[in-house]
Amino acid sequence: MHKHHSALGVATTLTPAAPVTLIRPQAAARAARFFSEKFPGRSLYAVKANPSPDLIRTLFAAGITHFDVASIAEVRLVAETLANAQGDQAKLCFMHPVKAEEAIAEAYHRHGVRTFSLDTMCELEKIVRATNGATDLELCVRLRVSSEHSELSLASKFGAELGETRELLMATRQAADALGICFHVGSQAMSPQAYSDAIERVRAAIVDAAVTVDIIDVGGGFPSVYPGMEPPALEAYFDAIHRGFESLPVSYSSELWCEPGRALSAEYSSVVVRVERRRGTELYINDGAYGALFDAAHIGWRFPVALLREEESEAELTGFSFYGPTCDDMDHMVGPFMLPEDVQAGDYIEIGMLGAYGAAMRTGFNGFTSETVVEVEDEPMASLYAEPVPARRLATVIKLG
Ligand SMILES: *Cc1c(COP(=O)(O)O)cnc(C)c1O
Repeated sequence: MHKHHSALGVATTLTPAAPVTLIRPQAAARAARFFSEKFPGRSLYAVKANPSPDLIRTLFAAGITHFDVASIAEVRLVAETLANAQGDQAKLCFMHPVKAEEAIAEAYHRHGVRTFSLDTMCELEKIVRATNGATDLELCVRLRVSSEHSELSLASKFGAELGETRELLMATRQAADALGICFHVGSQAMSPQAYSDAIERVRAAIVDAAVTVDIIDVGGGFPSVYPGMEPPALEAYFDAIHRGFESLPVSYSSELWCEPGRALSAEYSSVVVRVERRRGTELYINDGAYGALFDAAHIGWRFPVALLREEESEAELTGFSFYGPTCDDMDHMVGPFMLPEDVQAGDYIEIGMLGAYGAAMRTGFNGFTSETVVEVEDEPMASLYAEPVPARRLATVIKLG
């Protein structure tokens, strides 16, 4: 692994012809410590946000010992990654409500997984069959909750409806050693209210089914910071969740869990790209929709950008859109991405906050990919965890304003 002091140093000394992924382990470790110390319960890292083994090891070393995995490949990945790192302390929770029976069996019998989520009777039967009627299961029933406070909905695919939960909770209670209730408010939840509302839904389900609940899992959805999306402090989310949890009719020894993906990984990665052509306010860059910019292309997500020049440009900031390198018209990121008006072909740009659902989603379509990963020591382009607020974040905020 190459190391460099800063993104600027990478651009000016390597002058890379292909995109370079930058990683900032210290930023991920800081996020992990924040959750370990301040969340009033246990934090599971949702591996799908970024399954990089280096990141998994970094989070583990910084206190995240539990992992929310969603596929058998993720189960194997985390098990292998932590095999030599006191991995016996690591715990995997298989939190996809629709699993292959073979995946459940392998997770249980080969990897020691005991925690599974479900949202139908059919899935409950599958889990019981695949584990040969095991008596040591922690089973979490996923409730459907609103995504109204979130930028990305997770409200339509999974989760039992209010009318279905009673029977499901009662049957799961019978099969489980520990019974949990989980939900997901949608990704990038912009208000703590999302969790308070969902916890009210949990309360209704518990009262209706009159079961003893051992685990309340509030899922992911914790935000990061992006242009135009400045969320309240995470402490406000933790407070709302803590208040809600304390008021639930659950057993005295019950546990509170959360499953942050984005919030633990967003600051970990960014990408250095090169401008290959400029056409008006459209920049043709060497990464795009099939690379680390899936969300920028498909849901118009805006990421912070910075021009990487030895001598800082004095030009006014202007809104640019990006075209990625493939031959596909859809390889287009509308932005606007705010850059100095004199940006030109040959310039390097850092696109920040790509650690969650960015760097991990790269494909090799059309032969364009990024093989170089460089560890840097400078601050991420924005942070929810830096104290005091780094100058570059202020700069980003000012640019946006
Ligand atoms: C995707 C996902 C997460 C992580 O969500 P973030 O919004 O990235 O925090 C957590 N739990 C489940 C079940 C998920 O599907």
